[in-house]
Amino acid sequence: MQYDVIIGLEVHAELRTKTKCFCSCKNEYGSSPNSNCCPVCVGLPGALPVLNKHAVEQTIRAGLALGFEINNTAIFERKNYFYPDLSKAYQISQLEKPICINGSLRVGEKDIPINRIHLEEDAGKLVHFGSDSLIDYNRGGVPLIELVTDALKEPHMETADEAIEFLTKLRQIYIYAGVADCEMEKGQMRADVNISLRPKGSKEFGTKVEMKNIMGFKSIHRAINYEIERQKEILEDGGVIEQETRKWDNDKGESFTLRTKENSEDYRYFPDPDLLAVNISDEEIQKIKDTMPMLPNDMKKKYLEEYGLNEYDTDVILAEKEVSDLYSECLKDYFQPKSVANWFTTEILARIKGGNKLDISKENLVWIIKSVDEKKIQRNSAKDLLTFVWGTNLNAEVEAKKQGIMADLSSDIVFEVLDKILKEKADVVAQFKAEQDPKILNFLVGQVMRETRGKANAGEVMEKIKEKIM
Ligand code: ADP
Ligand code: MG
Ligand code: ZN
Repeated sequence: MQYDVIIGLEVHAELRTKTKCFCSCKNEYGSSPNSNCCPVCVGLPGALPVLNKHAVEQTIRAGLALGFEINNTAIFERKNYFYPDLSKAYQISQLEKPICINGSLRVGEKDIPINRIHLEEDAGKLVHFGSDSLIDYNRGGVPLIELVTDALKEPHMETADEAIEFLTKLRQIYIYAGVADCEMEKGQMRADVNISLRPKGSKEFGTKVEMKNIMGFKSIHRAINYEIERQKEILEDGGVIEQETRKWDNDKGESFTLRTKENSEDYRYFPDPDLLAVNISDEEIQKIKDTMPMLPNDMKKKYLEEYGLNEYDTDVILAEKEVSDLYSECLKDYFQPKSVANWFTTEILARIKGGNKLDISKENLVWIIKSVDEKKIQRNSAKDLLTFVWGTNLNAEVEAKKQGIMADLSSDIVFEVLDKILKEKADVVAQFKAEQDPKILNFLVGQVMRETRGKANAGEVMEKIKEKIM
C-alpha cells in the first residue's frame, strides 16, 4: 500500500527583548541559575504580571514578515498544567485570540499555510544529573512565540526535507526581521512535529502522532523519517495508529511514548483575569511595517538584480545574517560584488562550516581581497594570510609586509627578470607567436613569478609580456 504523509509543525522561538514577557527580569541566556527571577515570573501568590510592549511588537513584526493578518484585539489565557519547570502551574499563552492569524511560508513550489503565531511565556529549564534534577527558572517567563502550521489545509508538507526547508527559512526570516536569534544550541528555537499517514489518494486524515521538543534540524529530519517508517509498518501490519505524544531520543535514534491522548480541553484554558485584552491599532501595525528590516527575499532580489550574483552565491551569503552583514560591510568599502562574493562562497564558507565562528574583520578581509584583485599578493599567499589573521587582532597588511609576500619588487628589477626569461624561453615565445594560445602567456607570467618568488605584480608582468611579444 502507498501512503501520503502529512506533516504539521509547531515552532517555538524565544523573542529578542531586553526583559521577560510579564516582568522586568532580564531576558538573558547564560546568567547564573535562578538569578533572573522575581515573584512574578516564579508565580508567587499575589504577584501581578505586566505585559511587555516590546514582546507584542516583536510578535507583530514576526507575523508581518510572514504575511499574517494581525488581530486588533488579542487575549492572554492560562494554560493549566503541572510540571516542575512551571512553578505557577499555568503558562500564560493565547488560544482563542492570538496576535497573528493566517500566514504562509513558501517551501519549494508550495505556499505552506500557517494558522497562527501566538505569544506566550517560556518555562524554566530542568537540568538532569544522573537521577537528580535541578531547576533553573531564568528562562521562565521569557517571551516565546509559537507558530502553528495548518496541516489540514492544502498544500501539505509531506517530507522531512520540506519540513527542514520550512524551519530553515523561518529561522532566517526571524533573524533578519530581528525578532529572534534562534540559536539552536541554546534552545532558542524548538519544534514539535505532527505526522499522520493516509492511504494514497484518500481524503480522510489519518491519526496524528506528535513528537515534542526536538532539538536541532538534523535530529528533526531523522525523527520525521523514523516516525513515517514506524507508522507505515503499523499500518502495513493492519494495526491502528494511536494518537499520542512521543519523545525522540537522538542517541538511540528512536522515539518512545510520552503520553497518549491530550487535547486542549485538558488544559482548562481560560482568559487570564490578571491581564487586559491587548488592543493593537492599525497605526501601530503600520509603524512596525514601516520599520521592517530588509528580509531575505528582498535581499536575494537585490543580490541577483543589482549585484549580478548567481543563485548559488546569493543563497550561500544570505544563509546566515552575520555573513550577509559582513558582505554588505565589505561592499561599502570596496564595491566589487562579484569579486567579494567569490571569497565568501569559497574561503569564508570553508572556514565557518560546522558552526565555526565568523571571525575576520571587514578591514582585513577587504584589504586581502583588494590586494589580490590588484595583483599585489598572489591568491595562494592571500589564502594563507586569511588563515593567519583569522580569529586574531592582527592586521593583514602589516603581517603581509612582515611575511614578505607583497608584490613589492620595483618594476626595474622585475623587467630585468622578465627579459631574461623571454630570452631563455625563446622557443616558447615563438610558439605563442604561432598559436596565440593564452595558456602560453600564463606560463610565461608564471615563470617570472617563480623567479621573483611571487614578489612581482602579476598584472604588470602580463601587460609587459604582451607589450614585448605581441
Ligand atoms: P494539539 O491540540 O494536539 O496541539 P493542534 O490541532 O493544535 O493539535 O495541531 C497541532 C499541529 O498538528 C498543527 O500543526 C496541525 O496542523 C497539525 N495536525 C493536525 N492534524 C494533523 C494530522 N492529521 N496530520 C498531521 N498533522 C496534523
Ligand atoms: Mg500542540
Ligand atoms: Zn521576573
